[in-house]
Amino acid sequence: MKQTIESFLSEVESKNRNEPEFMQAVQEVAETVIPYIVQHDIYHGKNILLRMAEPERVLMFRVSWVDDQGEIRVNRGYRIEMNSAIGPYKGGLRFHPSVDLSVLKFLAFEQVFKNSLTTLPMGGGKGGSDFDPKGKSDGEVMRFCQSFMTELFRHIGPNKDIPAGDIGVGGREIGYMFGQYKRLKNEFTGVLTGKGITWGGSLIRPEATGYGNVYFAENMLHKNNKTFEGKSVVISGSGNVAQYAAEKCIQLGAKVITLSDSSGYIYDAEGIDEKKLAFVMELKNNRRGRISEYVKDYPSAQFFAGKRPWETPCDIALPSATQNELDEKDALALVKNGCVCVSEGANMPSTHKAIAVFHKHKILFAPGKASNAGGVAVSGLEMAQNSLRYNWTRDEVDAKLKGIMHDIHKSCIQYGEESNGYINYVKGANIAGFVKVADAMLAQGVV
Ligand code: NDP
Repeated sequence: MKQTIESFLSEVESKNRNEPEFMQAVQEVAETVIPYIVQHDIYHGKNILLRMAEPERVLMFRVSWVDDQGEIRVNRGYRIEMNSAIGPYKGGLRFHPSVDLSVLKFLAFEQVFKNSLTTLPMGGGKGGSDFDPKGKSDGEVMRFCQSFMTELFRHIGPNKDIPAGDIGVGGREIGYMFGQYKRLKNEFTGVLTGKGITWGGSLIRPEATGYGNVYFAENMLHKNNKTFEGKSVVISGSGNVAQYAAEKCIQLGAKVITLSDSSGYIYDAEGIDEKKLAFVMELKNNRRGRISEYVKDYPSAQFFAGKRPWETPCDIALPSATQNELDEKDALALVKNGCVCVSEGANMPSTHKAIAVFHKHKILFAPGKASNAGGVAVSGLEMAQNSLRYNWTRDEVDAKLKGIMHDIHKSCIQYGEESNGYINYVKGANIAGFVKVADAMLAQGVV
């Protein structure tokens, strides 16, 4: 088996040199899915996983724009259309200086499995740019988004490819891109999700990834007769996913003690309550400030510059910032300090070795492709509402989100329960996600 996996990985690597994040994502899937393929004749001789590791299409384009000083700037835009076996391409756009082909291909590959898990008919894609919205004026962000969409618009559409937000792409950026798409195409369609509520957006979409992750963790805890009530929770990040994960934890009676950004983390031993969280939302979403400013308003909290929050003793950890933000050393610190549950809000925040530590110590561990699927699930619900020209209420969308997270949890158990009763959620999510896409690919022939 080891040899089969290694020879598969070396074949993929030969075509994708210098793409470490992409190879990391493929390796994690291969290690759990190849043994399943070997046991199931219908997949033999079809090279299904090899086909899934090859994007259907990669678009790469120049994005020129003019800054406030009148200088011409050049960024690179991308869209990876990874797999459309079960529906149109669907996945976010990331604007961050670290964006390159490897990062977007890893995200697109993960997205295929994640979208399959949601039970909704969505293929997988991802895109973005190395543009950094941080420190840019609204006018600069608008001109960049318009230039980006002036190329992307010809490749996307409500039945073809439907982008959404991700790191650096929130309501403001979606608005500017939607406006430009509408102007170029002269049509009002659900071509992007994460839209504003008065122009085609869905209630609960901003909250969906963070809430969904907490719902998933709740399912894991319930299975072990535990709840969020009274638990201390360490969260990384302070963006969209982290904010709404914190909100839901607070609502469930847990104590959120950390948040972070790329400059460090804050620790508030008294807990970040609703009022303090409202301050963080205003700080990050409207003033676009840094998390370190929290301690100016709440001096009993501490700021740790350049550090990540994983050494903080806690019951539950929700990594919600970025990929590879939690390594083996961090995982060992979490386990040593009594953490019983790690549920990923971000995509691939835990390294391969960190996941091995969680599995070795039988921690409840949920990989992002299962636990953060609530965001894309509600994006799918936004697409459905756009097609119906109808809006569901907040309670209706929240109930559907809860139901979807429950179903994803059930699928993970179906494929991930081991003989000793431990649920390997990585294995469960990978195989459950794989089966639906692979079966559709088999049915559709060699395309
Ligand atoms: P935001 O841009 O709203 O927030 C990102 C947060 O992560 C910020 O606090 C940011 O800090 C921090 N961060 C980003 N890069 C780094 C880095 N290299 N090191 C340390 N901290 C970093 O993004 P989201 O909250 O939307 O996304 C967070 C994660 O969740 C990503 O992995 C994303 O792919 C994933 N995700 C998001 C979904 C969504 O619906 N938005 C859906 C599913 C997954 P700073 O401001 O300093 O950069």
